[in-house]
Amino acid sequence: MSQTALRIGMLGGTFDPIHLGHLRSAVELYEALSLDRLHMIPAQQPPLRGRPQVSAKQRLALLTAGIGDTPGLIADDRELRRDGPSYSADTLAELRSEVGDKARLVMAIGYDAFLRLAQWHQPERLFELAHLVVIARPGYGYPLPAPLRELVEHRRVDSIETLMQQPCGGYLPLELPSLMAISATYVRECLEAGKSVRYLLPDPVERAIEQGGLYRQCE
Ligand code: ATP
Repeated sequence: MSQTALRIGMLGGTFDPIHLGHLRSAVELYEALSLDRLHMIPAQQPPLRGRPQVSAKQRLALLTAGIGDTPGLIADDRELRRDGPSYSADTLAELRSEVGDKARLVMAIGYDAFLRLAQWHQPERLFELAHLVVIARPGYGYPLPAPLRELVEHRRVDSIETLMQQPCGGYLPLELPSLMAISATYVRECLEAGKSVRYLLPDPVERAIEQGGLYRQCE
């Protein structure tokens, strides 16, 4: 019975650092999908990018400060407790074993990350474990490359209701109400240049970055 099945979301990322684009998307996703909870999971070692300048532990601390007491959002440290590259398929397998076969498990990613999904570790396995919801991001509207189209097109559904009828296997592109052009790259650039990051980050995250002297150019 889909009405009573648990609805669990996962939003992974480098969160280098967490910003309001992540957090507002997370809140809107939580509400749009009527999730029971959304696990926000920093990667210990993101497989497809260089090593972040700030440690995984520091990124987790910033994420925790950013979430604060926001209902439904969880700063989940499970990838920090695993060695080696942080593959989402392994993380979803862990979550699936915790929530059981009937739960609706949703992996959410932004459109920029989605464009590289066919290069991820075991992309087919992701759909055996979860649904994929792709969040629109300003500036990213490119047509899908052929390998990605082959991976997702036959899984596409048109509504959240249809997606939630099954525990996993669907793909839904979703435009959330507050499209925000904020990126962590831009936040880091501002910090390195000594410019203000006010209104890009939650205040406690801004304070923690300042107090820790993080993301300064000479580090
Ligand atoms: P960077 O600029 O360093 O690449 P980022 O801002 O894209 O970082 P990530 O930690 O890589 O942040 O993002 C984690 C997830 O959140 C990804 O799926 C990404 O697409 C998504 N995301 C990031 N920023 C936004 C935003 N402003 N709106 C919607 N989704 C976002």
